[in-house]
Amino acid sequence: MPKIVVKFGGSNLRSNEEIHRIVQVIKNYNQPLIVVVSAFYGVTNYLVDALAKARSDESVADKTVDHLFGLKIESLNQLIENHDLRNGIVHIIQDQLAELKRYLHGIALTGDASKALEDHVLSFGERLSAIFLNGILLANGLDSSVAFPETIGLITDGEFGNASADFHLATGQVRDALKEDKIFVVPGFYGVSREKKTTLFGRGGSDYAAAALARCVGASSLDIWKDVNGFLSADPRLVDAPVKIEKLSYNEAAELAYFGARILHPRTVEPLTDARIPVRIFNIYGTLEVQLPLTVISREKSVQTGVVKSVTFSDDFGLLKLKGPGVGLKPGILAKVTTALHLSGINISSVLTSQISINILLAKKDLQNAFAVVSAIELSAVGKLQVEDDISIVAAVGHGITDNYGIAARIFTALATESINVVMSCSGASPIVSYYLVQSVDRTSAVRAIHREFFEEKH
Ligand code: ASP
Ligand code: MG
Repeated sequence: MPKIVVKFGGSNLRSNEEIHRIVQVIKNYNQPLIVVVSAFYGVTNYLVDALAKARSDESVADKTVDHLFGLKIESLNQLIENHDLRNGIVHIIQDQLAELKRYLHGIALTGDASKALEDHVLSFGERLSAIFLNGILLANGLDSSVAFPETIGLITDGEFGNASADFHLATGQVRDALKEDKIFVVPGFYGVSREKKTTLFGRGGSDYAAAALARCVGASSLDIWKDVNGFLSADPRLVDAPVKIEKLSYNEAAELAYFGARILHPRTVEPLTDARIPVRIFNIYGTLEVQLPLTVISREKSVQTGVVKSVTFSDDFGLLKLKGPGVGLKPGILAKVTTALHLSGINISSVLTSQISINILLAKKDLQNAFAVVSAIELSAVGKLQVEDDISIVAAVGHGITDNYGIAARIFTALATESINVVMSCSGASPIVSYYLVQSVDRTSAVRAIHREFFEEKH
């Protein structure tokens, strides 16, 4: 029987009530599973912080370990009645924490941490939640064990902080290691280099880890449990009556995630597309019926009436502007700038140029660094370098967006009716997205205006 990979995120691990629901879901599957878990809610951020402070503060090691132990122990006491089982799990957790403490002490002693050590430290949130959840499953009579990525051979390309799975090396090993008919609980977020060093898949990377495992074992689906109602036509915090999206193509899901839909990591569909493994999205607060996903993401491409399937936004982008009377025609500027940004580890999201201005879209967190890097390059044609960080992106996504006339016109009109100025726009970079840069203060009304145009008014 093909396996199902089931992923639970940190937002599913906040309370005992949620943990009870996870157990119920796993029982409802009633078949062998690979369960992938993220760190407890907030734990990765906590570790990021600890890592930074540990360099200059010796007491961080003890504080961190005590804090993490506190997060688990109360739930374990409440949820595992069997004394021996509980003690066994607590011991494994203590061993892990003792190891973490040694690393943090080492960082305090040397005042420094290598990239490899940083990745390793940050993976402890997932390691601990896998051990924890496995304990809970055992307490509920389920046949389960923890399978660490380093043990099962989830090999990556070795890039710290932003690794990709190496399916050539990983597939056979992972498949073999997970072939038994039982439940395996795998910590998400990381794989290992060929040298067995922990390499993270990037922030939010447990979705990608789960997708990579699904591909390795040839899963029949990747099921992602969330605390929201699947993909919607817009963020329910912004619009009153968002429409549920039952089906999305891989590309639509990837673009929505890229432009801010927080429901899925943008790289999740990467390993699944060729393998044609569908992603099914569920809500842990909804029906726990495992045959009733809210959204299914697959290779099926459909053009919906009205074309736009969802309107999303992101406040995480900013612009770096290179201005000068002839920047558009002067060869070599972009080559120099993009090389320098690349060498500084800064990813470019988009470039829009004209004769007098080159506009580089970047993650907001990278803007100041990018400004410094580009300022240091000798660029005689560039008169002014400018950062714009009070902008937001609003994107409309759906198959058919660039093949049908009138969509952009409707969007511009909807925005104009609300007196929203479009700072910049782009259609055609991908056949399924049209996106608009607006001032951040206009972001919410822009999403509402476009949503109203396509989903709320009958024309
Ligand atoms: N815990 C990791 C993070 O916060 C991975 C994940 O949640 O997917 O980035
Ligand atoms: Mg997450």
